[in-house]
Amino acid sequence: MKTVFTAKIKLQTTPAQFNALRTTQLAYRDALNYVSRYAYAHGKMSNAVRLQEGTYDEIRLRFHLPSQMACSVPRQVGATYKSLWTKVKQNAQARQAGWTRKRYKGLDQAPTYVSPTLTYQYRKDYSFKKEQQVSVLTLAGRIVVAYTGYDQHVSLIHHDAQIGAAKLWYDKPKKQFYLLVSFEIETADPTPEIHKQVVGVDVGMRYLAVTSDTTGRPRFYSGKRLVPRSHHYARLRKRLQHKGTRSATRRLLQVSGRERRLKQDANHVVSKRIVEAHPSSLIGLEQLADIRERTKRKRGKKASHKQRKANAAYSKWSFAELHALIAYKARLNKSMAIKVDANYTSQACPRCGHTSPKNRLGKGLVFVCQNCEHTLHADLVGARNLAMRTLLIRQDWMSTGQLSVALDVSDSEAKAARLKRYAELRWNPDTSPRTSVGGV
Ligand SMILES: [Zn+2]
Repeated sequence: MKTVFTAKIKLQTTPAQFNALRTTQLAYRDALNYVSRYAYAHGKMSNAVRLQEGTYDEIRLRFHLPSQMACSVPRQVGATYKSLWTKVKQNAQARQAGWTRKRYKGLDQAPTYVSPTLTYQYRKDYSFKKEQQVSVLTLAGRIVVAYTGYDQHVSLIHHDAQIGAAKLWYDKPKKQFYLLVSFEIETADPTPEIHKQVVGVDVGMRYLAVTSDTTGRPRFYSGKRLVPRSHHYARLRKRLQHKGTRSATRRLLQVSGRERRLKQDANHVVSKRIVEAHPSSLIGLEQLADIRERTKRKRGKKASHKQRKANAAYSKWSFAELHALIAYKARLNKSMAIKVDANYTSQACPRCGHTSPKNRLGKGLVFVCQNCEHTLHADLVGARNLAMRTLLIRQDWMSTGQLSVALDVSDSEAKAARLKRYAELRWNPDTSPRTSVGGV
């Protein structure tokens, strides 16, 4: 099975190289916009060959693009127009059928390219050199730039990866160029034998993530530092939105960017640590739709100030992104992430199965089972329950050869059946993945 990854490598440019890349990137964008206007003026043309015939000389002359790049421009514009035409046609059908009255306006004027992203074709206009250097094409010819990146990605680039196209990406606030290199690697088809261990991952605000494997060893990934900063940004954003002046809008953009990066960085760090702590594992993540349901409680007047604040921070934290990053990085570490039903994972006693909101009185830090008095750190309960459910899924996989993952949320009957089986799970720290889950 082939899997596509993207490596983000940081280009260590000299000032001259920086200028060469920036000039090229902007010239490429200007050329795209020129060809877009040409296409619009010629019947909103999407035919790449005819676009190239009509614009190639002008692209070379006016924007000084090297020939390889000059060919990519009409191709890219043609693809843009093609997809816009598809939308126009779909919209026309929808209007005829009476599904909508809105007219699609995507082709009312020539589409403009705003982001100066430039795509390089491997071996044609970029290639890797020895000693962590990459050669990329600019208006002034090829330049050889040193780069750094995640060790794992870098070693893959140098060894077994099949390298594809790359995007030149410019981080404007940091004035830094990156190359986003896509590459394919051969990964083994997933089997239960490869994924020997199981681990449950519970996400939340107090701890960004809590994990538990079947031996019961918990790991906590703190989000504590982030919450006040996240609140700070949220407040600031609100104030600036309210103000609405031009300078406030500019500042708003800045603040939003910082807020987004804070979350992205934290998600990157946490997902990396989780995946590295659990190689060759089946990683159980909560079905996010279930999480939203769980946090919906206590809204409006009944919610305390604190609760409302927590709700806001929680809903804005990009747990979907965290999950996606875990899933992605897992594949690079011979692990695999699956989605598990999250219903009652915070209320069910891992030892006796007794399920009640009363097990977590006052939403405090301590989980006390009202039936067997089993006491546990509240944030660990969810991770343990998820670990057990993941273990059950792995056992089914072993016995049937089919990995059935709780993807279909709409199938309530199948889900009810699964939840019934989950209710019979009992935590037993001696349980190894080879034997059955105790008490079933
Ligand atoms: Zn209990």
